Amino acid sequence: MSRSEEFCPRCGDAIERSGRPSGPDSPLCEECYLSEYDLVDAPDRVEVRVCGRCGAVHRGNRWVDVGAEDYTDVAVEEVTEALGVHVDAESVSWQVAPEQVDGTTIRTHCSFSGVLRGTPVTEEVTVPVRIGRETCDRCGRVAGGAYASVVQVRARDRRPSEEERRRAEAAARDLVADLEAAGDRDAFVSEVTDRAEGLDLKLSTTKLGQRVAR
Ligand SMILES: [Zn+2]
Ligand SMILES: [Zn+2]
Repeated sequence: MSRSEEFCPRCGDAIERSGRPSGPDSPLCEECYLSEYDLVDAPDRVEVRVCGRCGAVHRGNRWVDVGAEDYTDVAVEEVTEALGVHVDAESVSWQVAPEQVDGTTIRTHCSFSGVLRGTPVTEEVTVPVRIGRETCDRCGRVAGGAYASVVQVRARDRRPSEEERRRAEAAARDLVADLEAAGDRDAFVSEVTDRAEGLDLKLSTTKLGQRVAR
């Protein structure tokens, strides 16, 4: 059995591999490996587009209702999504602490600790998050008074009672809430008009109109 000497291609040091029977994942020596690979891959900055009206967050190519309490929660979530921890790291623990700088900037202080190739390492990165306030597609359509169908709440030969009108509107709003909870961002009540002959409900989609009319 002969043992071939290995040398680090970067610094030229002889490499002792005996302790790693599973084989190295990089030809570099311990020291060069640790300086070459960060424990954490963090973006320089993260931009988050939020709807200033309803708090929805733009992700990928669509708006998503996140139900966040405030934007620091959103910032922490988005930064966490964007961070990449080294695949070979073990026993990784981390925390992200948000610091509100001003209305549109949140600094997130991320600290990590883990074990890389048997060496305990810690790393701290600060990722600034810029919050861009916009109007989401739905709020834009609500504000624009867009609607696709009108459901007229009427009674024969009389005006529907206040109770009947109230119930019809509540039913429409309940249905919208159910659809929203199921991820449908297109359903909304655009306008409610109380008329002498009854109630007019302007609804965003014909499908919603058909379901409310039942
Ligand atoms: Zn080296
Ligand atoms: Zn919105």
